[in-house]
Amino acid sequence: MAEEKEEAISFNDLGVNEQLVEACDSLGWKTPTKIQIEAIPPALEGKDIIGLAQTGSGKTGAFAIPIIQSLLEKEQAFFACVLSPTRELAIQIAEQFEALGSGIGLKCVVLVGGVDLAQQSILLGKRPHIVVATPGRLVDHLSNTKGFSLRALKYLVLDEADRLLNEDFEKAIDEILSVIPRERRTYLFSATMTKKVKKLQRACLRNPIKIEAASKYSTVDTLKQQYCFVAAKFKECYLVFILTEKPESTCMVFTRTCDATGLLAYLLRNLGFRAIPISGHMSQPKRLGALNKFKSGECNILICTDVASRGLDIPSVDVVINYDIPMNSKDYIHRVGRTARAGRAGVAISLINQYEMEWYLQIEKLIDKKLPKYPAEQDEVLQLLERVTEAKRISQMKINETGGKKRRRGGEGDGEEEIEKYLSRNKGNKGKSFKTAKRR
Ligand code: AMP
Repeated sequence: MAEEKEEAISFNDLGVNEQLVEACDSLGWKTPTKIQIEAIPPALEGKDIIGLAQTGSGKTGAFAIPIIQSLLEKEQAFFACVLSPTRELAIQIAEQFEALGSGIGLKCVVLVGGVDLAQQSILLGKRPHIVVATPGRLVDHLSNTKGFSLRALKYLVLDEADRLLNEDFEKAIDEILSVIPRERRTYLFSATMTKKVKKLQRACLRNPIKIEAASKYSTVDTLKQQYCFVAAKFKECYLVFILTEKPESTCMVFTRTCDATGLLAYLLRNLGFRAIPISGHMSQPKRLGALNKFKSGECNILICTDVASRGLDIPSVDVVINYDIPMNSKDYIHRVGRTARAGRAGVAISLINQYEMEWYLQIEKLIDKKLPKYPAEQDEVLQLLERVTEAKRISQMKINETGGKKRRRGGEGDGEEEIEKYLSRNKGNKGKSFKTAKRR
């Protein structure tokens, strides 16, 4: 479901005709979303549109409704063409067209790779109203499918234009533009306004109306987000490597479980880092104690779970590390919101192992961005492996010992005493990083 709605305005108010209002209603679209409110009226007036909006904003409806309404006025085959960067998106777009047009016999075809060309040619032979395609496959059909042309096209939509251009579709798009009429309406939707999108906009659109409907889930520009794909067994090693590259930065490391916060804190402390855990296993006063150590700078690395960090008043940190990817992608937004606040620069690095790929893809979908890789040479990282493995072994042993003692005394088993011991041992040793510790 799209998130942004304005209660007072109806599809009727936007000039949408009765048939389509009913279609929206039957899909459960009671009121238009922000992008629909802003895009539909100028589109119905025949204007070109450039929309900055992301998946989830209701943008498909924003372009599909005016196209179908115009089609109802004068029915025609190959009336509109929507270009999408991916097969999945193309299919979703076609589904929304079909759902909106189900009561009026709307015919739509999807032309994407991975599906038999001949089968698609048969569907084209039925002269659909709407073609939704990835650029490469559309060019294939334009050059090879007999009797198929877009010479009478009235509407062109470039969806996710930033991705359409990033993925080297430029040549195919140029070819498509050269065989469709100049006299047409063009809608360009993009999550971001890159230089290439601007260039495309100049090439394709005439006096477009610009509309912006930023997603609730967008991240700020000063935030640099990266990911690092790692084998599960080397995760600790990569974490240590990243932390050695960010000496003295304030850093929050997020884990999935409370136990992991403790183990990682021990492990890092063993290697000379000033790390402190906050977990749901700790009492509130102890959590606050740990937090104060982080805030005062006594510790510069806070290791926490989503639950423990929620509601804590923490100033903006330099780096957020997702040691474990959150299963709920909205938690990602909350986590990375701990850095790059108030115009300051910040970095968020996500470590992803082979089991977490699915969650990571959910995050990419939510923020509507493909993230760049964190540059880490495996050979260099694994030079740390021996020391990290040893530190882990010692930490595990300590946890087993203190856990056992605490359980016998009926304590919480949060390793707080060990933290105190560690901090007093490391007083006056603030600047020591793993790299310097390693050299000694
Ligand atoms: P989109 O941003 O086009 O991918 O749409 C995201 C989701 O929002 C889709 O599942 C649509 O069915 C849904 N949607 C679009 N418009 C509305 C609306 N006005 N009210 C409720 N849901 C909507």
